[in-house]
Amino acid sequence: MTSGASTEAAAGATTVLVIEDEATLVASLAYNFRKHGYTVVTATDGVEGLQAARRVRPDVVVLDLMLPRMDGMEVCRRLRADSDVPILMLTAKGEEFDRVMGLEMGADDYLTKPFSMRELIARVRALLRRAAPRATAREDALIEAGAMAIDPRGRTVRNAGAEVAVKPKEFDLLLFLARNAGKAFTREQLLERVWGYQFFGGSRTVDVHMRWLREKLEDDPAHPQHLLTVRGVGYKFVL
Ligand code: CA
Repeated sequence: MTSGASTEAAAGATTVLVIEDEATLVASLAYNFRKHGYTVVTATDGVEGLQAARRVRPDVVVLDLMLPRMDGMEVCRRLRADSDVPILMLTAKGEEFDRVMGLEMGADDYLTKPFSMRELIARVRALLRRAAPRATAREDALIEAGAMAIDPRGRTVRNAGAEVAVKPKEFDLLLFLARNAGKAFTREQLLERVWGYQFFGGSRTVDVHMRWLREKLEDDPAHPQHLLTVRGVGYKFVL
């Protein structure tokens, strides 16, 4: 079994992320989704799947319940912590799957194997239709905090009208905190969410990026108004 996520997300197309460890099913799902015009990204275990989701930001996720390294429930729970992406869970007959629990974890729908491709595609389409307005509105909306304006679509930040040059990871960190304004995160959580599950750079990386962001965006970096330290926890963003 080959592990590793394939990345071929193209601009414009609807991207479906398939997280499934059964090779023949992955091939069949990928073939059928592509036939219907979707861009397909695949991952064959839970950890790879989570990384792929954070990297390519798919429009919809098809997620198997029983997966190596991290099971589907856990992947679902973690995805939900920072994303509204519609999730369709795949379960096998006989697998212990509590439907209510699955939906509570944040899955939007589920399908029991074996299923027909026609049924799966129809379900995915329904999820996309339901999700479209909500996702677009939230993902693309300009976030304003004092004199600061963060544009997720253009990946730009303005301060008092002037564009501020920020590095990609600084932007990712800023956007993540701003989208979750008011909520405190530990350095470890920020490393996982912004840098990815298997980043080993250490928590100082977060401190350094916060310092840079404050220097670039706060009027008085020593007394920040938006990018705040939460003593004993980590950081939070205040609008
Ligand atoms: Ca499986």
